[in-house]
Amino acid sequence: MRNEIANFKNCKSIAIMGGTFDPIHYGHLVTAEAVRHRFQVDKVVFIPTGKPAHKTDKAVTHNEHRYLMAVLATMRNENFEVSRIEIDRPGVTYTIDTIEQLKKLCRPDVRLYFITGADAIHQIMSWKESERLLSLCDFVAVTRPGYQKNQMFEEIGEIQDKYASRIHYMEVPALAISSSDIRSRAQRGMPIQYLLPQEVVDYIHKFGLYQDERKEEVKFVLSVEVMQEKLQSALSVKRYIHTMGVAEEAVRLAEIYGTYADRQKARVAGLLHDCAKDYPKELRQRFCKEYKIPVDDIMERQPDLIHPFLGAEVAKREYQIKDEDILNAIRYHTTGRANMSLLEKVVFIADYIEPNREKFEGLEEARRLAYLDLDMAMKFILEETIAFVKERGRLLHPLSLEALEYYKNR
Ligand code: NAP
Repeated sequence: MRNEIANFKNCKSIAIMGGTFDPIHYGHLVTAEAVRHRFQVDKVVFIPTGKPAHKTDKAVTHNEHRYLMAVLATMRNENFEVSRIEIDRPGVTYTIDTIEQLKKLCRPDVRLYFITGADAIHQIMSWKESERLLSLCDFVAVTRPGYQKNQMFEEIGEIQDKYASRIHYMEVPALAISSSDIRSRAQRGMPIQYLLPQEVVDYIHKFGLYQDERKEEVKFVLSVEVMQEKLQSALSVKRYIHTMGVAEEAVRLAEIYGTYADRQKARVAGLLHDCAKDYPKELRQRFCKEYKIPVDDIMERQPDLIHPFLGAEVAKREYQIKDEDILNAIRYHTTGRANMSLLEKVVFIADYIEPNREKFEGLEEARRLAYLDLDMAMKFILEETIAFVKERGRLLHPLSLEALEYYKNR
């Protein structure tokens, strides 16, 4: 937000590109440049939608992905900015709130233009505080070639009569490109190059966005519902609530950093990470022997450290998990280790920051880092945990020290 103040306060006029940008493409960029030129604005600010008022039930790609793709697409144009104003605002987002928030960052006499698809303008009278909105900024309705303009003009006659000078129309041929077409092409494995900047294409491929999720379905012997039922009887109520929080947080992290398959594995690893934690001492000892789990000297003296290793075996035998990555995520969720896989890091971090945790020092910083960079979050959490363990006079497992050494040098 500090950057945004610095960037906007000297602007006399700003155009705002509001949209889902799922994904951003050359149609949006050409439109932004055309509007900048026609209205001679100082800057065009792309504002990816947060939780749009009119689409609460429609699944869109995660906010951070849409935001980062917009940043990549606009980085070469000094007149283009991307704002987090909507994606950082909790709850449903309305354009009136965005305009008011933005106005506070600008000089009082700034002239604002809101650019969006003509379909959206057509419904503008149903937007929150629409009349006030029309008094605060001009609207630029952009259309694809062949758009039924005449019909639209008739339908919006009422607004047009009252706010004629406030609503501008522009036909942009490049808008023949559409986000939904790009998503569908990516899903069918068709080329998307040259429809959007290469950096965004690379990003889409790197994170496997818009893939046909059915192809990535991970099969488990037991369904997630059955696993949850088993866990409910194996864990205390408090632990079960924590477990559900870890699974939820792990899925959220995997949604940002991983693929659809990672998300499914993150849910299961999150659910099972503490599956053996509430076992009574005798049962723990018996299973460790039966399953031939190597219990080292430190685990012997600090029995808390046994549950993740035992948990991985229980997950394998009782929950019939065969995926080695999931088993390792359970095995190393307490100690960590050097060079962890994406799933291992996701579960380790989710365990620390899950939403049901009571507030403690460092929690907010860990949450902030987790959504910025997983390795930075690993380093921070390991440092905090090691300090905490030492403070309490408890024994530290060498795997944690190796992990810290590794993430310190990343
Ligand atoms: P959308 O789903 O992203 O887009 C709808 C159609 O318009 C799509 O065909 C899209 O093409 C095109 N489009 C959207 N934004 C565009 C832009 N800036 N330039 C060119 N084409 C664009 O967006 P939406 O849901 O209609 O919302 C658009 C904006 O209006 C958002 O900022 C939203 O928050 C705001 N809005 C506010 C309210 C309210 O305050 N109550 C209600 C509705 C909409 P692509 O798919 O190719 O992008």
